[in-house]
Amino acid sequence: MRHFPVFRDLRGRRVVVSGAGETAVAKLRLLLKTEATVVVYGTETHAQIARWAGEGRLVHVDRAVMPGDATCAALLYGANEDPVEDARAARIGHMAGALVNIVDNLDHSDFITPAIVDRDPVTVAIGTEGAAPVLARRIKAETEERLVPSLGTLARIGQGFREAANALPHGRIRRRFWSRYYDEAGPRALAEGGEEAVHAALDTLLAEMLREDRETGHVALIGAGPGDPELLTLKARKALHGADVVIHDRLVSAEILELARREAILIEVGKTPFGPAWKQADIDALIVEHARGGAHVARLKSGDPVVFGRLDEEMDALDAAGIPFTIVPGITAASAAAATIGASWTKRGRNASFRLLTGHDVAGFAEHDWRTLAQPNQSAAVYMGVRAARFLAGRLLMHGGAADTPVTVIENVSRADQKIVATTLARLPDALADAGITGPAILFLGLSPRQAMDASDTLDLPATGVL
Ligand code: SAH
Repeated sequence: MRHFPVFRDLRGRRVVVSGAGETAVAKLRLLLKTEATVVVYGTETHAQIARWAGEGRLVHVDRAVMPGDATCAALLYGANEDPVEDARAARIGHMAGALVNIVDNLDHSDFITPAIVDRDPVTVAIGTEGAAPVLARRIKAETEERLVPSLGTLARIGQGFREAANALPHGRIRRRFWSRYYDEAGPRALAEGGEEAVHAALDTLLAEMLREDRETGHVALIGAGPGDPELLTLKARKALHGADVVIHDRLVSAEILELARREAILIEVGKTPFGPAWKQADIDALIVEHARGGAHVARLKSGDPVVFGRLDEEMDALDAAGIPFTIVPGITAASAAAATIGASWTKRGRNASFRLLTGHDVAGFAEHDWRTLAQPNQSAAVYMGVRAARFLAGRLLMHGGAADTPVTVIENVSRADQKIVATTLARLPDALADAGITGPAILFLGLSPRQAMDASDTLDLPATGVL
């Protein structure tokens, strides 16, 4: 790290900008956010600078910078778009003891100006030591998106409330107070009634939390998507980050668990198919126990909790215990799998409905309406179908399903080890065995990968597309 990031206090200080053209305007846009007295030296003045000067936001001196002009200046910017003039300005700055920055000239600068995300008083500065401006811009854009515009206002008001909030016990409760303020109460109040309402919301929230003599916990039943952390909803991310205890399925990926707070307790309640498993009743009891203790529990389930997720048992247990919960939907495996192979679940003129099936139910291999499913142009996604594949294919063929009905199997959807097997109903069991599919997989009946996407590097397809 050649450049060490610091935040320089510019209140009441002078900042000198040498140059009054386009380059100067770009820097001035940032400098005018500060509380510095900004003085611009230069002729051939950009209209924007003249306007700012007219508004009294900066001082413009219609000549080149001269020795003595930088006296007491904290910073001097060389923005002349002319190396000779910039070098002269730099000498003037150095003589006066100011830190000098020559725009776009790392080697002749004492400091660099980072890319900034401004949510004053929250400021995010992004620097790459000039190595990757594109990357800095991308990080900035992503950060801009993540930090809602009102964050600055909320932070400023929150800052003034810190002392009052100290009435809450230190630790989890106080942390929760601030999370509730920043995540819900603050933004809502600001949107509905402006700053005034935010002050009122803080008072109400504090009173509410002080009144809660014994804390009750809360459970978020969260869909973690198929594995790729980018397929997590913002809501899921937030709930995960706010959790004291994270109770997750085996299929929830390590990258997603990384997003939990460092102090959070992580508990895996794995259900290995045909292997050792947590009993659902024990999982229910575990969730209830933690929430009863006052914890915020994130119950992370793969995909969408409303799809083959044993959600109802958990909701019933929570209701019985009187513990509030919310459900955060997620991207179900079949939805991400369809995106992977470029196939729609439904298509005009082909199928107007689509089924989500399980290969297994409590009784073993699941029975379905095979007669309907075997008809042409039917499509369905089968979850937990790998072991049931032979049974499934047999039933469909027996009910008149065409042997060459396309079947696509996508294993480990959205993960690094994603694998696609494009085959047919008749060949399904052998194709699965040949490809060594053992991980979680979606079986699409009646859907095949889109030809245009058939490049094996995108889809990891074998050259033929069929095994
Ligand atoms: N609630 C989950 C489904 C849980 S049932 C969802 O909405 O996706 C478990 C089954 O989901 C697995 O047997 C498999 O069929 C499917 N599954 C879950 N994650 C998967 C993934 N990353 N890739 C392929 N299939 C997956």
